[in-house]
Amino acid sequence: MRAAVFHGRGDIRVETVPDPVVAPGELLLEVHVAGICGTDAHEFSDGPHMMPIHTKHVVTGHVGPMIPGHEVTGRIVEIGDGVDGFEIGAVVASGGGIWCGACQACDAGRTNLCQRYSTVGLSRDGGLAQYCRVPAMTCRAIDQYGITEDTAGLSQPMAIGVHAMRRGRLAAGEDAAIVGAGGIGAFLTYAAVQQGASVGVVDLDVDRLEVASRLGAQQTHVASQGSAAEAFADHDLEPAVVYEVSGHPAGLATALELIQPGGRLVLVGLHEGNLAANARQLTLSEIEVIGTNAHVCDVDLPRALELLGTRSTPWDDVAPVALPLDQLVSGGIAPIVKGSSKQIKTLIDPWSQSVRATKMTG
Ligand SMILES: [Zn+2]
Ligand SMILES: [Zn+2]
Repeated sequence: MRAAVFHGRGDIRVETVPDPVVAPGELLLEVHVAGICGTDAHEFSDGPHMMPIHTKHVVTGHVGPMIPGHEVTGRIVEIGDGVDGFEIGAVVASGGGIWCGACQACDAGRTNLCQRYSTVGLSRDGGLAQYCRVPAMTCRAIDQYGITEDTAGLSQPMAIGVHAMRRGRLAAGEDAAIVGAGGIGAFLTYAAVQQGASVGVVDLDVDRLEVASRLGAQQTHVASQGSAAEAFADHDLEPAVVYEVSGHPAGLATALELIQPGGRLVLVGLHEGNLAANARQLTLSEIEVIGTNAHVCDVDLPRALELLGTRSTPWDDVAPVALPLDQLVSGGIAPIVKGSSKQIKTLIDPWSQSVRATKMTG
């Protein structure tokens, strides 16, 4: 099969490699689309950090060149021993993350914090290939959700957005602010709006804010044009929950200006080093600071698929095209590294020879 293989920093090659062999508990998927995100871009430009290229992964045992792709949607072509509830030919979305089911975190239902957590496409071969084997436990059939296969390709990042939204305990009728409207920020915006919140979104990019509006944000603010806190207050938007998605110090500063006394600050974006925050403000205003990591597959992935099916307009404003493997770096990863990506979500179709338009639900 054809696959994108990550050999090390700045080195992804499209190669012909042996087809994967399905193991017990797994499904073999003919990949329909695989999404890429900032994590892949970071591994490419600055890694490997997570991918076990040089050091054996403690859970998966993988070491050496690896196929990335942790946002995988595909058709089942083979079913491993011991798998129930799936049929050959069904299209499934995979959540990516694999948990042990036996540790304290798994017992508590927090499978994303599993002591033996690993991820398809980050700690073992993933979906930037024509075929990919995935544990059945990470998969949901998409047929009951009334969405296209391309739309299902958005379900893993949507699950991240759903999980972040839930971490903030956002309730209907509350106001929320989201700082950063890129991939996860866009999905989080939609999840928060569908939760019944009034949502304000801040970003530097006018185009991203335009999409945020289409996803239901009531207010948007261009970060370079004065205080977001003042602009939102003028429109009576008083966020009980502020989501910092940008991962940048300036985004955190904006989030801390936006947060109301007694509010919840959810740190979604990954920050380098220590946070610059006024501890006095956090204490005296009783601010809760909340982390969020990946998603709880059994809860967040079904909800993500459900949400993808509720939008009345198509998702092609979020992901207008799917790229062939040959354009993974030039058209997908490199623009994300440079911050010049024109699309909110980049999908790869490993069977396509050229750029194709996506077929989105709506
Ligand atoms: Zn991702
Ligand atoms: Zn576990």
